[in-house]
Amino acid sequence: MNEPRKKLLILASKLGYQTRGFAEAADALGVDVQFATDRCHKLDDPWSDGALPLHFENPAEAAKEIVRQFAQNPPDAILALGDRATPTAAHAARVLGLSGNDPASVERCRNKLAQRETLHAGGLPVPEFFSFAVNDALESILPRVKFPCVVKPLSLAASQGVIRADDVEQFRNAVSRIRALLESPEIRVTREPGLDRMLIEQYVPGAEVAVEGLLDRGNLRILAIFDKPDPLEGPYFEETIYVTPSRLSRAQQIALRECVAHSVQALGLTHGPLHAEFRINERGPWVVEIAPRPIGGLCSRALRFGSRRISLEELLLRHALMLGGTDVEREAEASGVMMIPVPRSGIFENVEGLDAAEAVANVTEIHITARRKDYIAAWPEGASYLGFIFARASSPAEVEAALREAHARLHFVFSARLPVEHPVTGKLSA
Ligand code: ADP
Repeated sequence: MNEPRKKLLILASKLGYQTRGFAEAADALGVDVQFATDRCHKLDDPWSDGALPLHFENPAEAAKEIVRQFAQNPPDAILALGDRATPTAAHAARVLGLSGNDPASVERCRNKLAQRETLHAGGLPVPEFFSFAVNDALESILPRVKFPCVVKPLSLAASQGVIRADDVEQFRNAVSRIRALLESPEIRVTREPGLDRMLIEQYVPGAEVAVEGLLDRGNLRILAIFDKPDPLEGPYFEETIYVTPSRLSRAQQIALRECVAHSVQALGLTHGPLHAEFRINERGPWVVEIAPRPIGGLCSRALRFGSRRISLEELLLRHALMLGGTDVEREAEASGVMMIPVPRSGIFENVEGLDAAEAVANVTEIHITARRKDYIAAWPEGASYLGFIFARASSPAEVEAALREAHARLHFVFSARLPVEHPVTGKLSA
């Protein structure tokens, strides 16, 4: 008798390239996949995925809705893509009796202050920190601030609103800029908890790495360590190049692995994908952030595993549904991705030099994901890249060089957004 097809539920704020990668992997494995999202699914459903609409800002309620909707046909596993969906996935997995992380652990990760408090209490290396309300008078906060520092919102992602300040004036500017961002309609509409507070922490100097991991009932596997060869020294922290394997020394990698394992333990994470950022300096690794979800955007395309070169999506699907075949290592070749930075805010008109960039040796693919005529915000207000460049070669240095060369051949054309007159005040907005 044929086994019934396995069913996977994917929760994501955005339906796009990343969810499509999972849909394709599911199709190839003969797995049924259903999506749930908190975006208007009609507008955001370019591939007719028929996603279930949910409100991720209320995870317990959203989980109940999942249980109601799938009462007759419950999923065999749930995966969250993007930070916002992770608490709902954990709550729903708990109610449905599926493998997953403890919802309280995931909620701790989701809030940057709670995460810092938990890691600090667990004895992990984190910078000194404290939080304050957006409306607190700066005069009362300033005596506690040590420079250089980093100011950030509690629950945004992709370095949105994360700003370094080296003195009082920069600190004042950073706070007012983050305050304006948190009060903007685009952010308000997300109803994220914690939009009324900010976190301030000491700036940690050092080289930054990203770790892609997979937890299996408490056992941690590191799938890849990505170096970030561009210095991320602020004042804003837009990502650029990721290259693996890491060029850190063996001793540094061992210390990093230990730090990942202890952090995960302190946070209480036990099952599923993991994406984490660390800084490494003469005092060893420092935790920047741990997220119980896979790497975002199109970046997973930089990773392939085993002799069949399976995708990260296939690996995660197999793991979530316990299909076997997950005991595979990343390929030996070096690989990397550049998240194409946004040089300025404006209307994205066009990209020139794409053919020349694609012709660079070792470049494997380039995807421009920004839509023409869309307004694209640069960091710190922005949170989405212009696209992604991928390269593979025999060494990390060659991969890095290829990404830089391809990027140098691209030219992005922007036009200014026309000012709009406010209907009541008559003031012009930029
Ligand atoms: P997000 O979740 O929005 O990406 P993070 O807290 O991970 O926010 O910060 C984004 C980036 O900002 C980090 O990857 C790092 O480069 C930089 N950053 C954040 N906090 C610090 C810090 N305390 N010291 C140095 N750099 C930091």
